[in-house]
Amino acid sequence: MREIIVISGKGGTGKTSLSGAFAHLNRDKIICDLDVDAPDLHILLAPKVIFEEKFISGNEAVIIQDKCQACGVCAEMCRYNAVSIRDERYMIEPLRCEGCKVCVTFCPEEAIDFPSRYCGNWYVSSTRFGTMVHAQLFPGAENSGRLVSILRQKAREKAKEEGSDLILCDGAPGIGCPVISSLSGTDLAVVVTEPTPSGLHDLQRVADLCSYFKVRVAVIVNKFDLNPEQTSLIEDYCRKNNHELVGNLPHDDMVTKAMVERKVITEMKDSNMAKMTGNIWANVLALLN
Ligand code: SF4
Ligand code: SF4
Repeated sequence: MREIIVISGKGGTGKTSLSGAFAHLNRDKIICDLDVDAPDLHILLAPKVIFEEKFISGNEAVIIQDKCQACGVCAEMCRYNAVSIRDERYMIEPLRCEGCKVCVTFCPEEAIDFPSRYCGNWYVSSTRFGTMVHAQLFPGAENSGRLVSILRQKAREKAKEEGSDLILCDGAPGIGCPVISSLSGTDLAVVVTEPTPSGLHDLQRVADLCSYFKVRVAVIVNKFDLNPEQTSLIEDYCRKNNHELVGNLPHDDMVTKAMVERKVITEMKDSNMAKMTGNIWANVLALLN
């Protein structure tokens, strides 16, 4: 079984549009949205949920008002300023609470409960391009790295179940916790970038991270025609560092049109972009052989 992840140095490079198009082009695969902090592949693929489970991670402090004697110790001890007073009652702001348990330990009245934190849900869904594993975190919920691990595990199980030999992941932008959790054991990272100085800088950071995890890197320059000079610099960088250039895509208003219609670019029949994306996907697959 092979795993490909589509990532980018920052958001807004066209990563998810391309992930959706690749999902359309490859019949036999499991789709996995690992951009758990800001998932949007579901907007294009309109998944129908067939399995759902809560994502529970860490704990949060909750004051039991009947026991609280309003001594203020919790407010003094909380270094995250999560405790506030409203109408002379001490309250804990769930979005600020880091679950460090200090207030629970020091409350003289044992008036603070410490339940598990319900952070969101993860799903297995059917889409017009096949089975998709994805998630939705609640605002402020954290530990997205562990959620990524759960999704990857589930995607592997589904791939085995369905006899698929490919898992296609839409990864998170940047080099944070969700990307780090996405990379180990991945066969190929397809990095989408744009022809700007920051695009090159972000590409270097994410490519270095992939190299650290010994993941092969393939690069796509999106909207390459907007700055041919910068595109050349990116191509030079790739050649010098043995990253595969699998293709460049021009700026095309059709991409926005496809999004508005909730289609992926390869569903826009007879478009040049659809053909070019098909060629790029063929180049990506060739790297797996
Ligand atoms: S430390 Fe305990 S008793 Fe004191 S204000 Fe906080 S919750 Fe209430
Ligand atoms: S668990 Fe930690 S972060 Fe949360 S309210 Fe208590 S002291 Fe503050």
